[in-house]
Amino acid sequence: MATLTKDKIKPARRMRDKIKQGQIEKYLNNGKCFIDAGKIQADLTRNTEPDAKMVEDILHKSLAIETLSPDETAMLLNVTDPKLLERMKETTALVKNKVYDNRIVTFAPLYLSNYCVNNCVYCGFRCENKSVIRKQLSFAEVRAETEVLAGEIGHKRLIVVYGEHPATDVDYIADTITAITDVKVKTRKGWGQIRRCNVNAAPMSVEDLRVLHEVGIGTFQVFQETYHQDTYADVHPRNTIKGDYLWRLYSMHRAMEAGVDDVGLGVLFGLYDWKFEVMGLLYHAIELEEKFGIGPHTISFPRLEPASNTPFTENPGYSVADEQLKKIVTVIRLAVPHTGMIVTARENADLRRRILPLGCTQTDASSNIGIGGYASGSDGQNADKQQFILGDTRSLDTVVRELAEMGYITSFCTAGYRCGRTGHKIMSLLKSGKEGHFCKLNAVITFREWLDDFATEETKAIGEKLILQEINEIKQQLPEFYEQFVKYYEKTQMGNRDLYF
Ligand code: SAM
Ligand code: SF4
Repeated sequence: MATLTKDKIKPARRMRDKIKQGQIEKYLNNGKCFIDAGKIQADLTRNTEPDAKMVEDILHKSLAIETLSPDETAMLLNVTDPKLLERMKETTALVKNKVYDNRIVTFAPLYLSNYCVNNCVYCGFRCENKSVIRKQLSFAEVRAETEVLAGEIGHKRLIVVYGEHPATDVDYIADTITAITDVKVKTRKGWGQIRRCNVNAAPMSVEDLRVLHEVGIGTFQVFQETYHQDTYADVHPRNTIKGDYLWRLYSMHRAMEAGVDDVGLGVLFGLYDWKFEVMGLLYHAIELEEKFGIGPHTISFPRLEPASNTPFTENPGYSVADEQLKKIVTVIRLAVPHTGMIVTARENADLRRRILPLGCTQTDASSNIGIGGYASGSDGQNADKQQFILGDTRSLDTVVRELAEMGYITSFCTAGYRCGRTGHKIMSLLKSGKEGHFCKLNAVITFREWLDDFATEETKAIGEKLILQEINEIKQQLPEFYEQFVKYYEKTQMGNRDLYF
């Protein structure tokens, strides 16, 4: 484990060591990056008068699970007619169902350290924030957190989150992931274990990303925060590593090159104009598709939240209202129909209920973003210890029950990357609708595990009805898998764990 020493390295030297210019320049197109602010503005102004017929044609394209063009996406962003907006919203559910059926994947965030050398004006972890209590988890603490997540709550999938600091370098990240996945906890009928760690960390070099690939991470997430370069410069001081816009912009290219082909994009909404940012996400997705043949695995759309002793968050200038967030989610779903979309516990329960049906595929629950918060039993809402305050701290059991009442099955499936269904493979399976077959089978088996090991009686009662319905559908829709499925299902009922297609 890297030891925590006082960070005495000068910022300029730190930047020189960390940022490898060659690993930016090699991806540029004739020396230029794929984000052109003038072009995005022109896309948006060229498409200010959406026509009903054209919007219908665009919706057909989304329904055919094809990525939209910048013009088409800009047109959807500019729709204001309530009838057309309603048509767009109806279509999101159809698109999502076609690719992902009624499944919602669930996960929990695990913050490992809030030490950070950067100074992002909006973040409670920024190095100049003296009021935040700094902490980095030891390996014993990592195991204690995991025991609660995997043994008491029942999560199988985490997003592990790190600040950028020499003490939480790639070795610390790799070693903590191994520590997490090594933990096995006895449960009512079987055992609990974290089977997939997605990572949200600072941009890395190809060499460091290869280390993460070896460890077997799930999705590698880096949010660009804002695609607008001038705004980026305003909120990320130049003398910090994060101040380098291009180092961040090309982090997913490096991940792909290193073999990490499930990558997660995101924007921190509230820093700049939301329409511009959605266009930025689209251009990023198109660039990855063009260069690597694979789009992003997921897109996240966090909104800026108040953070302790962080005045910038009180009046950020480009706040995104709930209605605007709904439109953002709607347009992203339609523009990149096969991409997973994550709505998190940053949003309150009511808004999550309204946003989820617009095509989201993943959500977290029982979330606690205090460092060491799961094992300490804190309510996860201590402003001096965490990055921001969550909007929804309901338990996984409550969220699973609510989802079941809404007709969604919570999937704890983590089979995809363990069977090599990542990158190209998963994208073509998603586009053809075939990935859904494996996902449906695995969703039911993992839901069975979770109901038997962790659910309250109330949730179990609703879950059983849903599972019967799903088994019936498998029998009708996937007869070729039915016999093997029944074998796995019965073994799972008897206490076997981690059986998957
Ligand atoms: N340090 C790494 C980085 O910045 O990429 C990863 C961890 S950072 C804690 C994860 C994300 O938190 C950032 O990408 C940013 O979008 C988000 N974030 C920071 N401050 C926030 C705030 N006040 N409200 C909501 N999200 C915030
Ligand atoms: Fe550090 Fe990330 Fe927070 Fe910026 S957003 S201060 S890089 S933890």
